[in-house]
Amino acid sequence: MADGATENCGLFGVFGCKDAVERTYWGLYALQHRGQESAGIAATDGGSIISHRGMGLVVEVFNEEILENLANPAAIGHVRYSTFGPSTILNAQPIVVAYAGGRMAIAHNGSLVNALTLRGRLEKQGSIFQTTNDSEVLAHLMAHPPRAGKPDALKRCLRDLKGAFSFILLTPDEMIGARDCHGFRPLCLGRIKGGGYVLASESCAFTPTGAEFVRELDPGEILRISGNGLKSETFCDRRSVRPKHCIFEHIYFARPSSIIFGEVVHEVRKRLGARLAERFPVDADVVISVPDSGNSAAVGYHEESGIPFDRGFIRNHYVGRTFIQPFQVEREKAVRLKLSVVEPVIRGKRVVVVEDSIVRGTTIRNIIRYLWDAGPKEIHLRVSCPPIISPCFYGINFPTSGELLASHNTSQQIRRYMNLTTLGYLPLKEMLGCVSKPPGHYCTACFTGRYPVRTKEMSESLRRGRQQPGTVPGEGKAGRVK
Ligand code: SF4
Repeated sequence: MADGATENCGLFGVFGCKDAVERTYWGLYALQHRGQESAGIAATDGGSIISHRGMGLVVEVFNEEILENLANPAAIGHVRYSTFGPSTILNAQPIVVAYAGGRMAIAHNGSLVNALTLRGRLEKQGSIFQTTNDSEVLAHLMAHPPRAGKPDALKRCLRDLKGAFSFILLTPDEMIGARDCHGFRPLCLGRIKGGGYVLASESCAFTPTGAEFVRELDPGEILRISGNGLKSETFCDRRSVRPKHCIFEHIYFARPSSIIFGEVVHEVRKRLGARLAERFPVDADVVISVPDSGNSAAVGYHEESGIPFDRGFIRNHYVGRTFIQPFQVEREKAVRLKLSVVEPVIRGKRVVVVEDSIVRGTTIRNIIRYLWDAGPKEIHLRVSCPPIISPCFYGINFPTSGELLASHNTSQQIRRYMNLTTLGYLPLKEMLGCVSKPPGHYCTACFTGRYPVRTKEMSESLRRGRQQPGTVPGEGKAGRVK
């Protein structure tokens, strides 16, 4: 329910399996939480590459006939939420290109922070772009005459890209996975019992596709999967490999059952909740979560504090954007359609509400207002990450800094704005104490404003974002909490 942060993209690919297309469909289905705007599959029979893309959910874009018309035994797929370029069918992926080096399909998760610069340079050299998304830059770099068709073309092109990228590429004879030198976005390898390999953004896509988890790709790794087996290589030198995994994958984006950056997401979220209970204890009668992303942290809070856990909200899984948008339902009503309060759990109680994060603050404010209607004595909000103060340039769609509630308000102001008895955000150091790798191995830029990769394009965008404060409903002056 993080209001304003939207998922980025999900990737899935299968090589060497007679039902690769069907498995890719189920893989995308399992990754639907990473993007709901468009979906696509590109597949090869070893000769041509054919694809189908459409706007909407996986189940809306594909049917049996479409899947039967796609080729086997290798396929890659993509679900998208736009972080760069508008949400149109033109920008849906995989992108399929034919160039001097052959045919290739490209599926990308992440955001390139030098895409506009590269695009400008390529256009001056004669490239004609078909889409407005950053991923197409890779296709044009690959097709560029000095590199096209050369054995090390991919390595050299990936070295030109700055920012966050996990790619799955498909050619008629191989599937390739590649991850940027910082490993911002996840990408993992699985093996299908009975033959074949899969690549996926998250391991939660393995079980429904009959695959078992093998390992995550390393930052800076290119993994080639072909009829000759697996071949791993790196495209950046050792000094350039500096892990900066997106910690927000653990906090909010990834499915709790997935293994991300070496750990099960649910376990990390429980530790975040437990640390929150240590840091911000309170005398209360019940712990509830904002479903679904606050569930694991709420369990951790309950286990550490000993305060009983109960379900204060029941989520209606059948009410989604597709229902709400055509009817222009206002945000407050949308919250009441999506969540129902279980009144006996709340009435007369001192309630701890655990939420994963606060972005704009509008949704959680409506949730708290709704909760007060059920008659609690007190409401204590606990947030399992620090205040978000800066936008993300690496593939997560946050609003501009002016629209981020915590970028221009203190915790006390936010507590009053939300009408809370108390409010506690998990501090940065404590959050980093809940993950297994050293603190320097994670990107935390949205909490600190310290960006591990920075370009002129980003500086310009940050400057514009600060000049455009958002309008938060219920506030007097735009961007300020009364
Ligand atoms: S800025 Fe935040 S959301 Fe973006 S990659 Fe870094 S940690 Fe993740």
